[in-house]
Amino acid sequence: MNEFDRVSTGLGEECGVFGAYDMDGRNVATSIYYGLFALQHRGQESCGIAVTDTFGKRKVISRKGLGHVNDVFNEETLSELKGNLGVGHVRYSTAGGTRVENAQPLVINYVKGTLAIAHNGNLVNALELRRELEYTGAIFQTTIDSEVIAYHIARERLNAPNAESAVKNAMKKIKGAYALVVSSPRKMIGARDPLGLRPLCIGKRDNTYFLASESCAIAAVDGEFIRDVRPGEIVTITKDGISSDTSMSLPAEQEARCIFEYIYFARTDSTIDGVNVYHSRILAGKALAQSYPVDADLVVGVPDSGLVAAKGYSEESGIPYGMAFHKNSYVGRTFIKPKQSDRESSVKVKLNVIPEVVRGKRIVMVDDSIVRGTTCANIIKMLKKAGATEVHVRISSPPFLYPCYFGVDVPSNEQLIAHSHTTEQIRELIGADSLGYMEISKLKDMVGDLHYCDACFTGKYPMEVPGRDISFALEEGDYQNE
Ligand code: SF4
Repeated sequence: MNEFDRVSTGLGEECGVFGAYDMDGRNVATSIYYGLFALQHRGQESCGIAVTDTFGKRKVISRKGLGHVNDVFNEETLSELKGNLGVGHVRYSTAGGTRVENAQPLVINYVKGTLAIAHNGNLVNALELRRELEYTGAIFQTTIDSEVIAYHIARERLNAPNAESAVKNAMKKIKGAYALVVSSPRKMIGARDPLGLRPLCIGKRDNTYFLASESCAIAAVDGEFIRDVRPGEIVTITKDGISSDTSMSLPAEQEARCIFEYIYFARTDSTIDGVNVYHSRILAGKALAQSYPVDADLVVGVPDSGLVAAKGYSEESGIPYGMAFHKNSYVGRTFIKPKQSDRESSVKVKLNVIPEVVRGKRIVMVDDSIVRGTTCANIIKMLKKAGATEVHVRISSPPFLYPCYFGVDVPSNEQLIAHSHTTEQIRELIGADSLGYMEISKLKDMVGDLHYCDACFTGKYPMEVPGRDISFALEEGDYQNE
């Protein structure tokens, strides 16, 4: 999510990881490029690819940069990335600032060779671990906690019999959310945190294996989805196939997948842990229609993540579904964000109402969340200006009340409108005729039997969390003063 998006919705996405290993020795950089392209919605700030040739000198070549996958890579740069094993990353900065050094994958050279690592998620104990490493002489080149993980893996490797054991030993120390893809000289290793907060799955095409944050990326490279990496599982992919270690996994009832992946982050064509994202959003819309029925003429969704929930609301209520907005998708990193004084609001340059669709109609508008409330208020104003007679807002998540410590950029409490206002006050502030949020008790309908995290709505974190946001501390640099 770029600066523009951050302003317009107030919620930051996380990161996306993708790995590829061609056992026949063909170059994988282009496949990684397409995989990352399919994961672009998870992070638009920077991206990178690191490859190695397992049949040759096993040197790691990498390229990283600020911007979209399209900005950083072209045919020429991809052709320079020769290697049959590689990892890639798209980044949104939830921890660490917008600097090219913070782009991933990270490549670490150490006595046992070179490893490249791509990480999605946030650690809750990154500060302690960093401090511990620095006291023993480590010098960090980035401000991201992914480097803490990389160092731990490298350090553990000195005494572990193989790279996957080193990953496992590092997992015993790191706490928080992580989906990791690691390339060590002749292996591709994938690991998912024991709670399963962040997704990771495995795919295959001919003799090439893939690891990806979401199944949509496996489909993008014409791969066949094999399965999800289980929470707490370490998978090691070599020429002999896939081996698995689940000794770090927890009983299913302790797992805590991020429910927001289903509500907002993941692409609708992805399936995570057996639950299709499109389907779960349809169910969210249906639940909203059951909880908050209203007499109206048309149900519309706010692009993109509100669209499917709107369809679910329409199916359940019998009110026709329509397209009220045109979205301009071409907002890149260098887009000049309107200032408050400009007549063009950030919302207007990205979303336009189609007046012919909404004029004279009572509208049900479905969106995924209200963070600060300003975007929602602007959209309602636009609908009414275009002739909508009523706008009833339905939100497919419960009110945001608490920060996320696991890699999702939910703003601090003071900025969350629901933190200081009742639903009725919010309705009035945004100018809606009625407002209904997804009920917390109905979130479970979206994901079947899966156990999930809903801490940003309930404050019940699935693990102990620090008193303040780690990324904030790192940005301020106060960690060095401790
Ligand atoms: Fe996801 Fe919210 Fe839990 Fe963060 S706190 S992992 S955003 S459900």
